Amino acid sequence: MSEFFMSRPIFLPIGKDCFKLSIAVFRFGCSAAHIMPLLCINTLILVYHVSEYLLLRTASHMIDNRRVKILKESGGRRGPVVLWMSRDQRMNDNWALLFAQELAMKQKTSLAVLFCLVPQFLSATIRQYGFMTRGLQEVEKNLKKKNIPFFLLTGLPEIEMPKFFNRYKAGTIVADFSPLRINRRWKESVMRNIDIPFYEVDAHNIVPCWTVSPKQEYSAYTLRLKLQRLLPEFLDDFPSLKKHPYNWEGKMSILDWEKSLKTIDVDFTIKEVDWIQPGEKAANRAMEEFLKNKLSLYDKQRNDPVSDGQSNLSPYLHFGQISPQRTALEALKVFAHKNSMDAFLEELIVRRELSDNFCFYNANYDNIEGFPAWAQKTLNEHRNDKREHLYTLEQFENACTHDELWNAAQMEMVKKGKMQGYMRMYWAKKILEWTESPEQAMKIAIYLNDRYELDGRDPNGYAGIAWSIGGVHDRAWNERPVFGKIRYMSYNGCKAKFDIEKYIEKVHLYRGEL
Ligand SMILES: Cc1cc2nc3c(=O)[nH]c(=O)nc-3n(C[C@H](O)[C@H](O)[C@H](O)COP(=O)(O)OP(=O)(O)OC[C@H]3O[C@@H](n4cnc5c(N)ncnc54)[C@H](O)[C@@H]3O)c2cc1C
Repeated sequence: MSEFFMSRPIFLPIGKDCFKLSIAVFRFGCSAAHIMPLLCINTLILVYHVSEYLLLRTASHMIDNRRVKILKESGGRRGPVVLWMSRDQRMNDNWALLFAQELAMKQKTSLAVLFCLVPQFLSATIRQYGFMTRGLQEVEKNLKKKNIPFFLLTGLPEIEMPKFFNRYKAGTIVADFSPLRINRRWKESVMRNIDIPFYEVDAHNIVPCWTVSPKQEYSAYTLRLKLQRLLPEFLDDFPSLKKHPYNWEGKMSILDWEKSLKTIDVDFTIKEVDWIQPGEKAANRAMEEFLKNKLSLYDKQRNDPVSDGQSNLSPYLHFGQISPQRTALEALKVFAHKNSMDAFLEELIVRRELSDNFCFYNANYDNIEGFPAWAQKTLNEHRNDKREHLYTLEQFENACTHDELWNAAQMEMVKKGKMQGYMRMYWAKKILEWTESPEQAMKIAIYLNDRYELDGRDPNGYAGIAWSIGGVHDRAWNERPVFGKIRYMSYNGCKAKFDIEKYIEKVHLYRGEL
């Protein structure tokens, strides 16, 4: 049985979910002798949790109030509810949209979804803008069937959003959640320029980021314990979005996506990729295929860069084209070996939500001041160590190092827009080894990751790079030059683990954009 369930002190608080749990228990091959004590404990705690559960949901019928934060309280005015969609770009399984609809229903008013296409976003190029906007076009079409108009603004949110809210006399704003600095700044400046209620809903994490922990967690271990306690309360199924009964009264023009794309000021030389199709529908298909064909082998294959053993869901998860909660719920319905199920849920839930926790509570998530004290100390002590190789950003970017394995990983990212997960660790650690300082290593790794990866510009990326270069969420290892006590990875270590030649050949054969 999956450790996620085995170590849970309490189980899902409502009947249908208890049933779901029992199914999950059976699927993981647990005997009746194991199940009975669990179900008995469950029943005892059930009474307490049902009352707690009902209390929490009085104000909001469908949505656990702990998912929602009030950013601005205001008497406001009567008017449409507007969802400012940003990180969670989907119609289905979207707590922010469900909450916005619930508010609109209560206020008997119309509901719209708004997306603001900014001219630049971190180091994103047309590769990521193309993927995102094609996904958004699907959202627009889907929402139309639900009588919910979709608006696309172009420009800076702090300027364009308040203008929109005033023009359409919006009554309430709901936004989805991101822990990243840029999104938080947008919200702060929009807030200063409006005088209507403004809510934020965590539609990305299964357990809301601010609920699972009030502080930066030290490691996966400490967050895992908290998640195990709270998952039973949050890993429930989604209600479906209703056809909205109140019509939008304002003027609506047909969206001209091509014209909107002309307003962006990004690098068009980094081409889009065609091995992955964007959008909610494609995301669901990819999830189903992974669960059906690859989940059982996940534990054995995910760290082998030669086999395509990962889910490849990260671009969809990054743009919110699929919900992690839906992915976890669907995974739990599948019969898969315990080790694979545990490993996948560990990455999808614990590691992913740990990254949000890191970026939410650590303002220095993208520079060395965000590293733990022991890591800063050891890196400083080795600051002046002689580096055997030193490369410039240009040499890294063009995959011109002496190491053919590193070059292949870089080329995989450049051509495909997604580097294999195990190689990402090696890739970032070697950047530390071959640059003048940890500061420079951080800058180069983040720049390249955000520029080429489809899933870049994500808390997972900042946490992954900080783990590789700065020991974040890791522990001290044996001391060595340049790295100090930061965990080291070597070419020979990789050679012992997988077929390096085959990986290099695979990357060379990949017909990508270059
Ligand atoms: C240096 C470095 C940079 C990284 N950059 C990014 C990035 O920009 N964007 C990104 O989404 N991930 C990043 N990761 C984390 C991880 O490598 C990717 O999430 C994973 O390889 C994506 O492929 P997948 O969806 O096929 O993963 P799977 O193995 O199928 O995992 C499923 C999902 O679990 C989550 N997950 C898996 N591994 C991790 C992890 N180590 N940390 C946090 N969440 C994880 C992701 O959401 C992933 O999509 C980085 C890791 C490192 C070490």
